Amino acid sequence: MSGPSGGTAVAGVIGWPITRSLSPAIHNAGYAALGLDWVYAAFPVPPDRVGEAIHGMRALGIRGLNVTMPHKQAVIDALDEVEEPAATVAAVNTITLREGRLVGSNTDGEGFLRFLRADAGIDPAGRPAVVLGAGGAARAVAGALVAAGAETTVAARRADAAEAAAAAAGARAGEWSAAAVAAALGPEALVVNATPAEVSELPLEAGRLPAGVAVVDLRYGPPVPSLVAAAREAGLRSFDGLGMLVHQAALAFERWTGAPAPLEAMARAAGDAARRAPASR
Ligand code: NDP
Repeated sequence: MSGPSGGTAVAGVIGWPITRSLSPAIHNAGYAALGLDWVYAAFPVPPDRVGEAIHGMRALGIRGLNVTMPHKQAVIDALDEVEEPAATVAAVNTITLREGRLVGSNTDGEGFLRFLRADAGIDPAGRPAVVLGAGGAARAVAGALVAAGAETTVAARRADAAEAAAAAAGARAGEWSAAAVAAALGPEALVVNATPAEVSELPLEAGRLPAGVAVVDLRYGPPVPSLVAAAREAGLRSFDGLGMLVHQAALAFERWTGAPAPLEAMARAAGDAARRAPASR
């Protein structure tokens, strides 16, 4: 399958800054594995040029764009349509050019759930979950956890942001304090760090979390995110965000190409690229 005029189809990611994105390696490995005539590139787009970039996408016939920090909310105004759950959580991470229309969607929440179930072996249904942060990723992940039946609390350093994110996700808002987070957890609970913060800045002490708690930091290394390292040291199951990155990419890949994503090839490329690009987000 190829582009509209029979040439190479183009996809990519916009963000600012975007110096170490793993997405080109992940998507291009997927195209290569399936022999698709597609190419995926990273486009650094400063915040004051987001609208122009989206208009350019339509003019250039770019088939799909991923959207990363800090543009996930800002792109919404430039789109023709925003699907759920992206509209409710006000965060678009995937734009698809469909019959000349720009359609926004969000694969972060579903990507997180696929990672959780398929890679981590955790079914969130009925578990307490605390999501730290109130940005695009936090809102998408909290919304997905609520939909999957987790008793979800959102805590963020700004209480008003936590309230708004919790309301968008259908979750409870919690206080940004170690005592409040501990009170929201049980032995089978899930803690998700959806901030770029180090463990020392977060309202929890990994060593004092109940045994059986699973910890996910949406960041990935190398180096291993400090929360993941601290949780591992405390004997807890803990995971970084690479698995979610691969699954959200696979979902976008399938939307754009219509082909089943070759997950193994994409995951291998993610791991290889992460090792080549230390300190990536
Ligand atoms: P946003 O900028 O939209 O939101 C960031 C959130 O973190 C805000 O609530 C912000 O609070 C909070 N925050 C920032 N710095 C700190 C700090 N030092 N202490 C406490 N809170 C802080 O980012 P995203 O939601 O898009 O991304 C969040 C994280 O998730 C990033 O690390 C990103 O790389 C990762 N991510 C990973 C994905 C994956 O596939 N693995 C996908 C998407 C994101 P405030 O508003 O007060 O600044």
